[in-house]
Amino acid sequence: MSVNLLLMGLPGAGKGTQAANIVDKYDIPHISTGDIFRAAISNKTPMGIEAKKYIDNGDLVPDDVTCGIVEDRLNQADTKNGYLLDGFPRNINQANSLEVITNKLDKNLDAVIEINVDPKVLVERLSGRFICKNCGATYHKLYKKPKVDGTCDVCGGHEFYQRSDDEPETVKNRLDVNIELNAPLIDFYKERNLLFTVNGDQDIAAVTKDIDKILSNLDS
Ligand code: ADP
Ligand code: AMP
Repeated sequence: MSVNLLLMGLPGAGKGTQAANIVDKYDIPHISTGDIFRAAISNKTPMGIEAKKYIDNGDLVPDDVTCGIVEDRLNQADTKNGYLLDGFPRNINQANSLEVITNKLDKNLDAVIEINVDPKVLVERLSGRFICKNCGATYHKLYKKPKVDGTCDVCGGHEFYQRSDDEPETVKNRLDVNIELNAPLIDFYKERNLLFTVNGDQDIAAVTKDIDKILSNLDS
């Protein structure tokens, strides 16, 4: 059985945090367009150099670039048992493209899980986020500290970084851009009867539990 999932939510809602559990459960790849862009930036590829201009301002990378990346990624063999998309689509044009791509590949979405969080808490979530340099595991200075201070729970790494687009000047524009585009997207998936919403204003374990419940119902 394959399972094709989309995780939605504003920046800082907890998508990456929850994605880690979901991909473990199904053994499917976590496809985050943000992660793909950050890898391209750190490898200084032409696409990364182009994308950086937008990311540094908190704006969206143009749709033609982003949709092309997702189509290539969904074409890869490791998506044969499913995939978990995170951070794509971000607007209706991308959502329409995704429908075309997944139809063509016979990999239509089975469910869309929206992590709904009051935008007021997102600035604090993003400003406290830090990431393991070695494996990409995500932490928070208040809400998800490593079990041993300074050591990554997942890989034992000792080096961490904060995303440059989590700095306050960028965060405001990122949130404005994404809040405006989010509501029409939610409606898009509601109309297709694919949408499940979880309350993301709870602690991490409670959100995981709610997502697990939704996934168990999909399995049965
Ligand atoms: P996204 O991928 O949606 O941008 P992340 O998963 O990176 O969000 O989470 C943003 C920050 O908030 C991280 O520092 C993470 O540890 C923290 N976080 C995630 N979920 C919760 C939660 N339910 N309560 C408090 N903090 C959370
Ligand atoms: P994220 O890691 O999802 O928070 O994304 C970080 C940044 O990457 C965003 O602020 C955008 O600049 C860019 N990005 C990620 N996904 C997309 C997308 N689907 N469309 C356009 N830009 C994106």
